[in-house]
Amino acid sequence: MLNQELPKIITKTVPGPKAAELIKQRDEETPAAIHCGYPCVMDEAQGAMIKDVDGNLFLDWVGGVGVLNVGHSHPEVVAAVKAQADKYMHGMFNIVTHEGYVKLAAELNKRVPVRGDKKQTMFANSGAEADENAVKIAKAYTKRPNIIVFSGAFHGRTVMTMAMTSKKAYAVGMGPFPDGVYRAKYPYLYHRPAELTEEEAIQMDIDSLTDVFEEASPAEYVAAVVLEPLQGEGGFIPAPIEWVRKVREICDAHGILMIADEVQSGFGRTGRLFASEYWKEAGIMPDIIASAKSIAGGVPLSMVTARKEIFDAVPNGVIGGTFGGNALACAAGLKVLELMDRDHLPERSLEIGKKYMDTVNSWKEKYAVIGDVRGLGGMVGVEFVKDQETKEPNGEFVAKLVADAAQHGLLIENAGTHGQVVRFLAPLVMTDAQLDAGLAIFEASIRRVLGLE
Ligand code: PLP
Repeated sequence: MLNQELPKIITKTVPGPKAAELIKQRDEETPAAIHCGYPCVMDEAQGAMIKDVDGNLFLDWVGGVGVLNVGHSHPEVVAAVKAQADKYMHGMFNIVTHEGYVKLAAELNKRVPVRGDKKQTMFANSGAEADENAVKIAKAYTKRPNIIVFSGAFHGRTVMTMAMTSKKAYAVGMGPFPDGVYRAKYPYLYHRPAELTEEEAIQMDIDSLTDVFEEASPAEYVAAVVLEPLQGEGGFIPAPIEWVRKVREICDAHGILMIADEVQSGFGRTGRLFASEYWKEAGIMPDIIASAKSIAGGVPLSMVTARKEIFDAVPNGVIGGTFGGNALACAAGLKVLELMDRDHLPERSLEIGKKYMDTVNSWKEKYAVIGDVRGLGGMVGVEFVKDQETKEPNGEFVAKLVADAAQHGLLIENAGTHGQVVRFLAPLVMTDAQLDAGLAIFEASIRRVLGLE
């Protein structure tokens, strides 16, 4: 079974001949703007493993960028989608009601940790759509025009979410952008000024949030603050709980809604079904959660959950869309939730994350390029630096590492403003032997790129 295999490269280099041919055709037929340098052309995938068209076996630690927490083509998800396809595939939800949508919403309403006794959920197709709908819903409820987002944030590639996203390389030449999007500092404690304690750095970042009320938008015009519980593209940076608490207090003081963007951190990734469960355990809850990626095991789906009172303020027809909550996607989503519970995947995320973190941390003394290892559960980032003292980002090293690891059958991806972080998003169904094999390739790649082998 492919899902039990270990990484193995059988061609001289990758891409092998068949993969090279398809990559060549890809370059002809599809725009360069959506390409990447990875040499893997999939033939079949199961669990954490991808077999390419030349028979090479890759261990996938990217998981479709956080989409495959239940693994590639989980057989029970596949069966659920096939069974649904036999019955019907689509019925636009505001025309035809279908059971999968209603049942998945009901299951999520039981689980999603937002404020309120009576919760409701709507579905869309992508993370950006979920975030954009969450903002629209917050504006409708508060009747306010502005939002606050953070440095390092990534929220997507629609016009609104490009405006919300921090890294402007994702938005070159795409303006003008919507007005009313203001930015405060996200706490990046590893890079805090050396003279500040963690508490002082958190306070400084909080001051940058309240400064927005003075310098950009009075608080009474702010509908929502949108934050990632653990920044993904920004560099796998967990939000310190005391910072989250202060943000929540500020929101409460000014009637501002708190939106958690759990597009990447949701569905078991961090050791909980949602990362904001850690907030709940500390007595803090957002008003709205937007999530996507791993929700339906590889079928496009995203969600927004909030209390009914908030949704009730949205005029009919303002949110939704043709494919949102498609029947195949909802069938997959219901199965994913069942697997999360039955197979204890959030707990497995904790196990995998701990082993990965402990191992990489133990390399810090050997390899001076490793600056910081951080995360929650199985959502872990390793920040590479030119110097452990100056912490200067080392994106060049990561680029070489990603390329070298792929040559040896391990797929990893970068993150962070300078591409200086390696992110760990392995499917949570990965076996222990696969984890060990991946760590061995990862270390050997570090050594090769350092010229030690
Ligand atoms: N929000 C976060 C936190 C993300 O990580 C992403 C994608 O990486 C998005 C939003 C956008 O999701 P999508 O690419 O599905 O539109």
